Amino acid sequence: SSYHKVLEENRQLYNQVQDLKGAIRVYCRVKPFLHEQSDDHSTVDYIGENGNIMIVNRHKQGKDARKMFSFNKVFGGNTTQEQIYVDTQPLIRSVLDGYNVCIFAYGQTGSGKTYTMSGPDITTKETWGVNYRALRDLFQLTETRKAFIKYEVGVQMIEIYNEQVRDLLVIDGSNRRLDIRNNSQLNGLNVPDASLVSVKCTQDVLDLMKIGQRNRAVGATALNERSSRSHSVLTVHIRGKEVVSGSMLKGCLHLVDLAGSERVDKSEATGDRLKEAQHINKSLSALGDVISALAQKSTHIPYRNSKLTQVLQDSLGGHAKTLMFVHINPETNAIGETISTLKFAERVASIELGAAKSNK
Ligand code: ADP
Repeated sequence: SSYHKVLEENRQLYNQVQDLKGAIRVYCRVKPFLHEQSDDHSTVDYIGENGNIMIVNRHKQGKDARKMFSFNKVFGGNTTQEQIYVDTQPLIRSVLDGYNVCIFAYGQTGSGKTYTMSGPDITTKETWGVNYRALRDLFQLTETRKAFIKYEVGVQMIEIYNEQVRDLLVIDGSNRRLDIRNNSQLNGLNVPDASLVSVKCTQDVLDLMKIGQRNRAVGATALNERSSRSHSVLTVHIRGKEVVSGSMLKGCLHLVDLAGSERVDKSEATGDRLKEAQHINKSLSALGDVISALAQKSTHIPYRNSKLTQVLQDSLGGHAKTLMFVHINPETNAIGETISTLKFAERVASIELGAAKSNK
């Protein structure tokens, strides 16, 4: 019967999710190599099985020239959006069972973070990124389960720029929210000031994302400049009510496109650039600090040290599950950032969140 189908599906999901629980997973994605100069070679020497990637620095000689990094998975330049999603899906689906999940895109500007999370073009389903695929999938699953569990889904979209949170779900160019909170079971406690909008289908989400993208552009002199220096967070809140028992569950999914991780040369950056760079460094290192405090089962987890970690507090640590997509650009001139990105990622990957206590 369909009831047994749902139970079986739940059991499979449960098993898939068990090995993800409490640990932080790191997937490395390599941007396609474009051979901009004919004598250029990719800095990716090879991608092995079991999540290994060998990087070659052609400015160096001998054994110093090559360095191997290991992650949960490595995706080469010809990996499709669909293939990326297949390995993300179990995590996404676990949100409907009441888990909190956080998915990050990390990497230098231009390495493919937005491509992974959103895709190049909202109107082309084939190249949709994780965001749209996740929402479509969640709606399909709520539909399958609706005889047993009634779900309510709400989204928030914010931008964090220079430690300021900006609500992206407002009526174009104004501060008027698109809120529904008052007649809803949902709540978005970590960012109570940002609009929380109820959504019923994938099209609702697409409409909201268009509004969010337009709002992101408002007030920014150059969108690309600004969007690479701010974090964008799309949060999906889920409430489920079991039809028979009446018991409630809640889950939450954060999809985070982080600011570019590139180091800004302190001697060159001044004014706004320097301020932005300092805020980005501060929040990315605060994220690293929270993750290592969780790993050490520290009683104090420094969530308060940045807006980003405050917003994500309930989805880092405890039983929450975290996935970081780490992006690298294989062009020779990016080698410095590639190495430092992979070092950061390897530090994150080696951390087991295990039985870490969340201090909320
Ligand atoms: P970021 O968000 O890290 O700044 P983008 O996602 O904007 O980088 O990617 C920079 C450029 O490279 C964009 O034009 C994007 O379409 C392209 N790109 C990135 N990753 C891929 C990919 N896997 N396949 C095809 N094009 C990609």
